[in-house]
Order: sequence, then C-alpha cells, then structure tokens
Amino acid sequence: MPAVSSKKKRGKQRKAAKTIRAAVDVLGELAAGPDRLGPFGIKLLERGHNKATLLLAKPDTYDSFPSGALSIVLNFLKRCENESFSQVMTSVRINVRSVDGADGGDLESPSTWIKVLDKAAVHEPSCRLQIAENIGPLVKCMCNDVKCTFFRSNKHWVEGIVDFTNLLMSMLKPAVESNSEEDVIVNTLLQQDGLLRSIIQWGFWNKDHCQELIDDETRIMIMNNMNMGTAILVNHIRQRKNDRGTLLEADMSWLVTLATTPIVSKESDPTCTVSFVEGSIQRLKIQWTEIERRKITQLMTYVDCVDKGVIKEVIDLGLNFTTEYGSASSVAFMSYPMILQCSNSMKYQMSDTRTAFAIRAGLIEMYLSFVDRFGEHVQLFSDVKNSLFRTLEHILKAVYEVSLHQKSAMAIRHQRSSIEEKLRLLDKNVEISSNPKCKELLDMVRSIIDTNGSYCCRCNKQLSKTEVMECNGCHSMAYCSRSCQKEDWSTGHKLACCKSCTDANPGQLCPWFQGRICPETVPEDERAATKLKELEKNINMIQLKLFLDNAEDILNHVKALAIPLRDCIVKFDLRNCPPTAVVERVLDTNYFGSDEERKGFESSRFRDSILCFYISRVFNGERGEDDTPSSLVMQRLFAHEWLTNKKKLNED
Ligand SMILES: [Zn+2]
Ligand SMILES: [Zn+2]
Repeated sequence: MPAVSSKKKRGKQRKAAKTIRAAVDVLGELAAGPDRLGPFGIKLLERGHNKATLLLAKPDTYDSFPSGALSIVLNFLKRCENESFSQVMTSVRINVRSVDGADGGDLESPSTWIKVLDKAAVHEPSCRLQIAENIGPLVKCMCNDVKCTFFRSNKHWVEGIVDFTNLLMSMLKPAVESNSEEDVIVNTLLQQDGLLRSIIQWGFWNKDHCQELIDDETRIMIMNNMNMGTAILVNHIRQRKNDRGTLLEADMSWLVTLATTPIVSKESDPTCTVSFVEGSIQRLKIQWTEIERRKITQLMTYVDCVDKGVIKEVIDLGLNFTTEYGSASSVAFMSYPMILQCSNSMKYQMSDTRTAFAIRAGLIEMYLSFVDRFGEHVQLFSDVKNSLFRTLEHILKAVYEVSLHQKSAMAIRHQRSSIEEKLRLLDKNVEISSNPKCKELLDMVRSIIDTNGSYCCRCNKQLSKTEVMECNGCHSMAYCSRSCQKEDWSTGHKLACCKSCTDANPGQLCPWFQGRICPETVPEDERAATKLKELEKNINMIQLKLFLDNAEDILNHVKALAIPLRDCIVKFDLRNCPPTAVVERVLDTNYFGSDEERKGFESSRFRDSILCFYISRVFNGERGEDDTPSSLVMQRLFAHEWLTNKKKLNED
C-alpha cells in the first residue's frame, strides 16, 4: 500500500465516516418503513456493525430480506468452530475513531446472526435452502451439548441456543405442507450431522440431563420448540411416499432413527435405553396432547419400533392414565402394532412373540378395563368407524388367532386367573353384561381363555402344567393319564402318530387319520417348522373340547340337513373368534380330488365316526415373508356316541 500523508489519511477517514453516517441514516429510514438494505447497510453488516446487524435481526423491520445480507451472515457463522468472537470482530473492524460505533466490529453477540437467519427463513422462503446448506458449522457447535461452545465460548453458546432452536423451527414449519421444495430443505437439514439426535434429545431435556448453563425457562422454550419439531418431521416424512404408496428406504431409515433414538444423550446417561417413542408415551401420561398422540401413533404404525418398553408404556397408559373415552380409543388403536409387526416394506404380519409379550404385560386386562369404564357409552361404543368397540373387536380377533401359537398360548395361560377375575367382575355388572356389544367382546375374551387351556386329547379333562403327559412318539398329543393315552392309541392314534406314519399310509383323507392335512409338507425353514408343530399341538388339545362345546349346535345342524351323522363333516373355523362350527354333507364337499378318492373314502371310512376339520392360520412371526399367512388344516375323527353322550364323557 502506498504511503499517504497524514492529512490525506485524515481526509479519507472523514470521508469514510461520512459514508457510514449516511448508511446509519439509511438504516434509520429502513427501520421506519419497508425498503431494501442498500450497499451502505451491506457494508456495515460486513464490518460486524452492531446497530445494523441488530436492525436486520429485529422483527418486522422490512417486508423482504435484503439481498446479499444472507451470505455475509452465513460466512460469519462458518467461523464459529475455530475462531473466537473477538478474533472475528477484530478482523472486520475498521478504525475510524471519530464516528461513534460506525467503525463496526462492535456486534455484542454472535447470536444476533442466528436471529438474522431466523428472520430470513421466515420472511424470504428462497433463503431457506441456502441456510440449510450452509449451517453445518453452526449445527456442529450448537448440537455439541457437552462442550457447549459457540465461537469458542460457553457464554455465546447459551446466548444462541434458543435462537438456534427458533431458527430450526422457522426452517421446519413450512414442511407441514409436503412438497418437493420442502423435501429438499428437510433432507438437507437431516443430513447435518447430529442435528436430528439433538432435536430429539432437546425435546426431552429435563433438569437432570440439561446443561446446567441453561436456566429453566430457556430449557422449557427449547423443549417446546423441539417437540413441535419432531412432530413436524414425523408427519412430513410419513407423507412422502413413492408410487406404490410405500416409504423410500432413506425416509424409512429417518423414521426409524426418530423412533428409536434414546431420549437422553450417551454423554449424560450412558445407561438410558428409553427410546423416543417410549419417552413420548411417558410424556403423554403426564399431559395428553393431540400432537404427541399423533406422533406416537404414526411412528408405531409406520416403523417397526415396538419393543418391550413401548408395549409396557402403552398398556400402563391405557390402564392408568386414560380417563376419557377419546383417549381410551386412541390407546386401543395404538395397540394394533403390538400384535402386528410392520416390516420395512410396510407390510404387516401378526407376531406371536410380540403378542405374547403384550398379553403378559396386561393387554387383555386393559381391554376389559375399557369395557368396564366405557361400556355404557353405547352410542360412541358401537356406531362410529374406528370406535373403541370396532378396534377392540378387531384386535381381540387377531389376538385369538395368534394365541393358538405357542408363545401367546403360554402367555394366556400365565394371565388366565387375572383375566378370569376381571371377567367375573364384569359379568356381575348388569349394565355391561346386558349390553350386547359389551357381551360380544367379553365372549371373545372368554374364547381366548377357553381355547388356550391344556386339555386331555382323549377325555377333555383340563390339565395343569404338571399334569400334561405327552405321546412319546409325536409329542403333539396330550393326555391326563396312561389309560387315556392307551385308549387313544388303540382307537386311532396308533395309525396317526408320526412314529408309525410312513409313506405307505399318506393319510390325507384316510378315515382313521388324525393330524395335519394342510400344508402337505413341513416347511424347510427350521423355525417355521417348529412354529407349525407347536400350533398343531395346541390345536390337538382343543379339538375334543370344541367338538363337545359345540355338540348341541352340531346336532341341530345335522338335524336340519336331514342326513345321518355318518354323512356329515364338521368344519371348525379357528380364524373366527369365537370359533365357528359348520356342518356339511361329506359327499357334497370338494375335498376329493377325483372320483377315485371319493370312492376310496366311501369304502374305507368308519361308519360310526364323524369327521372334523379344524382350520387356522400359521403365523411365523418372521419379517419380510409372504403377506398372506398359510392355512393349517387339521383332521380328527370322533365317535358318534361322544356327540350324543356328551355329558357322560365330561363327567368321567
Ligand atoms: Zn384323559
Ligand atoms: Zn403320537
């Protein structure tokens, strides 16, 4: 730089001062009415001029955000990781001593820049993408709530944290309208490292985990902001679907992160395993809000995030924290994903493991408590779509089907006395037991209990856990005693037991056959094969019971058909709750593949036995499998006299 005389220098300084004074005037005018920040103002902004920057951050100073100002502010903020605020100020200050404050470098706090961004995001939608793309360093500083430094200072971090969350909200709020522009902005923000985690965890900042730098009022402001933020994000991402109506893989993974991130950072509490969904349910217990409820329901429905913690919380919420019909309906609805497992491709499949856990956690008792408390809401209970009644009806039906599987069956046995106790109390309540809708639900629960006991396959005696004796050959028939087993063996099981079953007697429709007829083969997958075997065993134990319980119905049906018993078959459909029994004329059915088969059946069948079919479904409880569960059809023969002498048999 060429040397200048001191006179010349002073002249130049005076000129600069004049320029700046003029700019301040411009800013003054600006404050009075809407206008664009002219080149003077922009210069002041570049110099870290307090008054100019503050003006730009002040609400409602102008209609549109001054062009050029945004990149200046973003450039300042890019220095927030490595430089101190005073270093930055020193670097931009020009020394013109005579003009008060106009030499710049006097900005009081870097948080003003965050405020400016917030204003830009609110007033100029076109700024939002540029902000999202360029706030990496700011996000890194603010989201590090262990170090808590902004321009290498804790003080500045504290000054800026609320403004930062305000800025995030201004960026996210427009995303309630889902369109491609918002998609880009939301994606750009989500890709900022650690931002999503902070949004989640700051929404749960309680006194114990919050930085002590922050006072209570600030903490609550941040919490509220971030709560709203997660609600917007969940709703926005959920709406983005591809042509097939399923979520894109990346979006699904955002939702999974949202649902499963622990609500407390590792640094504050390394042992915290409470997921975002679980934490949100806990919060719903304290204060019921629609926003919170929707967020939870959406995540539980769209993401496979239902773990034991979530199930426990939902049931506790339903049992102890719902006082109104509306919230009870919502909680009932929330319990769908506790039975159905959602795969990443958004397909739902019933899950034995999950249902079993829900039952043990008190799922059925919760439903009974809803019937108890809201059973008299007759109108609401029955008419509306998605009413509590419809939801309970659907879920109980699903629970019934799943409960024939091993884990759920064991869970039902475990809860049996507690559920029976609740049923007894409800039966005593005339208002409820005389209400047909309530009665229907109670009968469904009774069916679930009834068909999940252990019963002797020969005499139908109910067995306790220690009384069950299994057939040593197939391990799928249960007996009360040696004599029952012997009797069953000699009258048919000998031929059906897998020990003696060979290819020579393929079974299928052989009159003596008892056992599985569909699927014809055992699945190759070991786990699926085990599941099938367990289901078969459970159904074996209730075949006789269903036969006897429905004896009257069956005989009436037979009478109506006006044909002899030997020409009838009984079809028990265990896909219904309570299960249904239908009687058909055996020769009318299409079970025979050919006339030959029919003839074979005709010639070899026992004339004094009645053939029963038991139809149910197999749920592997595995993800990503075929959508429709396969059917399991079992077959069993019972002597006619068992049907007609029902009472005698039961008394034995
Ligand atoms: Zn027995
Ligand atoms: Zn056997």
